[in-house]
Amino acid sequence: MWAKPFGQFANTSILIDGKLLLDCGPHTLLQLRKQKQDLKEIELVFLSHFHGDHTLGLPALLLASREENRVEELKIFGPSGLREKIEDLLEISYRKSIEDLSFELDTFEVPDLKEGTTHKDYKLEFAQTTHSIECCSIAISKNGEKMTYTSDGAPTEDTVSIASDSDLLIAEAYGEGFSGHSSAVKAAELAFRSHSKSLALVHISRTKNGAEELEKAKRMFKNSFLPTDSLTVTI
Ligand SMILES: [Zn+2]
Ligand SMILES: [Zn+2]
Repeated sequence: MWAKPFGQFANTSILIDGKLLLDCGPHTLLQLRKQKQDLKEIELVFLSHFHGDHTLGLPALLLASREENRVEELKIFGPSGLREKIEDLLEISYRKSIEDLSFELDTFEVPDLKEGTTHKDYKLEFAQTTHSIECCSIAISKNGEKMTYTSDGAPTEDTVSIASDSDLLIAEAYGEGFSGHSSAVKAAELAFRSHSKSLALVHISRTKNGAEELEKAKRMFKNSFLPTDSLTVTI
């Protein structure tokens, strides 16, 4: 399994094995193009929450897929009211609706999946974080390999639980002093408590110094790093 965490700062998106896309901000389609990703090969999109830096790229991804004559069904997992919000995004962006796409959108609301779910060989688990709106972390495992993406917000006990024994933990580290957000120190605590093996700090506030935030995390959790935009992490 491999993971590509795009974006050390805001606009975090993660591509797993070229098949699973976690969050889809305004820059995501551009990054996928740079990576020469075949959009048809993306089977599943997870939207952690409806803040623009995590979702505003979705209409462009859907329309680009239509342009490329995608016929393969696409699964989308996300917060309550997911299907209506996708309709709103398509309407605002292109005056289109889900019906106009050349493929089926199969939508799943994460709060309905308290026991988690599966997609092919992947096991998916979800946990609410403490953010300004409903927001979920996701843990993905396959063949004994596991990665967890916290998305936005302060981690909860449920986040610690789903992140347990992750080979890679990708954690929001916006910074101290922002309510409804995590920080490098909280991310390191989460990595330590969940017995994760490595920690990627993402979504760091532009008002913070990335290297300094990394040092704070490393004091508690040595195997912490800042992913660059084109980095692929093999688990
Ligand atoms: Zn947010
Ligand atoms: Zn965000």
